[in-house]
Amino acid sequence: MSKLSIADLKDLRGKRVLVRADYNVPLDDKCAITDDTRIKETVRTIEFLTERGTKVVLTSHLGRPDGKRVESMSLRPVAARLAELLKRPVAFVDDCIGEKVTKTVGAMKPGDVVLLENTRFYAEEEDNDAKFAEKLASVGDIYVNDAFGTAHRAHASTAGVCKFIKTSAAGFLMQKELTYLGEELASPARPFLVILGGAKVSDKIGVITNLLAKADGFIIGGAMAYTFLKAQGIGIGRSLVEEDKLGLAKQVLAKIQALGVKFHLPADHIVAQKVETPVAGQKKPKVEFKNPHQSSDASIEVGFCGVDIGPKTIERYRNELMQAKTIVWNGPMGIFEIPEYSAGTFEIARVVAAATQAGAKSIIGGGDSVKAVKKAKVGDKVTFISTGGGASLEFLEGRELPGVAALSDK
Ligand code: AMP
Repeated sequence: MSKLSIADLKDLRGKRVLVRADYNVPLDDKCAITDDTRIKETVRTIEFLTERGTKVVLTSHLGRPDGKRVESMSLRPVAARLAELLKRPVAFVDDCIGEKVTKTVGAMKPGDVVLLENTRFYAEEEDNDAKFAEKLASVGDIYVNDAFGTAHRAHASTAGVCKFIKTSAAGFLMQKELTYLGEELASPARPFLVILGGAKVSDKIGVITNLLAKADGFIIGGAMAYTFLKAQGIGIGRSLVEEDKLGLAKQVLAKIQALGVKFHLPADHIVAQKVETPVAGQKKPKVEFKNPHQSSDASIEVGFCGVDIGPKTIERYRNELMQAKTIVWNGPMGIFEIPEYSAGTFEIARVVAAATQAGAKSIIGGGDSVKAVKKAKVGDKVTFISTGGGASLEFLEGRELPGVAALSDK
């Protein structure tokens, strides 16, 4: 890795380490944490630092308070849960800059851990305001970024602080993301297949163009498939389509053909009639799907829309994926939130797990595919699950993430 990692840091004893964590955890209406995965995932980085006698000052955002203090988005519950996990006290300061913070950090001893309040209580955080970043940075001799999920945002606590601290390193969580999404994919074992799904071609086109020269094949599902099918002149009924992306889809298909890369589109679908009924007093209509059935081939009959990939497609995709040595997956194969239309997505999750057991490396690129893999109970049977939805997508598009770019070079 070209960026400095936490494992490279030397002479840590007594140093104040400002750690940007991702504690954007879900809370219920009583502000109790409903899923502590993100807190657990930071334990390794924190223990590494406390064992080496540093003073650990943690920062994070939680939710979208839009630059105002919102008590229901306080990080206080996180401090309590983190203390249980670390089996040591975690002091909480109800601000992230200012006198209270300076005083508390000034009184810290080697091995102490402090969590600061939600950085997004200040509008300056998302504005990447230099003065705010400088104040945040003033309590750290070293900066460690372990928040991959917000690394695609140039905010004060994710990027701006690095201008004011000489040494900035990736934490263990961040390093793992960079290893799998970066190094592993730089020279992937072949065949290297990329599975893409989800609602929009426009969201994933960047991934296709970036990986075109590297991947051996693409496996397409979800609504984005219909724009490609329509671009090939295939009837797609009333399926979700991005009319303004048809030209782009045609260009991509031509490039793919010229390069000889495999591009698999669904050969059959589960189709249904979408019925929208207005609900009094509500903006969104009630959506129901009627008369679901399998299509006989890749085309979709008039009046119907595709809601999942069909059985023939699942079989074809299984045959391809079972031969892969590297798999990247981003986006569901259908409207998987509705159980009747989730079979394609869950079956692909099981196939990816089986391919992994047969020797492939599988990287699940955030968002809905992560949900699908966990719901299909194969989360422990894939190689790597990215913690960042938007960040992993931008990484796969080959874009530089500000939170990574700001770290010190090795
Ligand atoms: P994305 O955020 O782009 O990965 O899209 C995820 C969303 O795509 C999910 O909410 C799915 O319900 C939706 N989706 C997948 N397939 C379809 C489809 N055939 N028709 C409509 N929406 C779909």
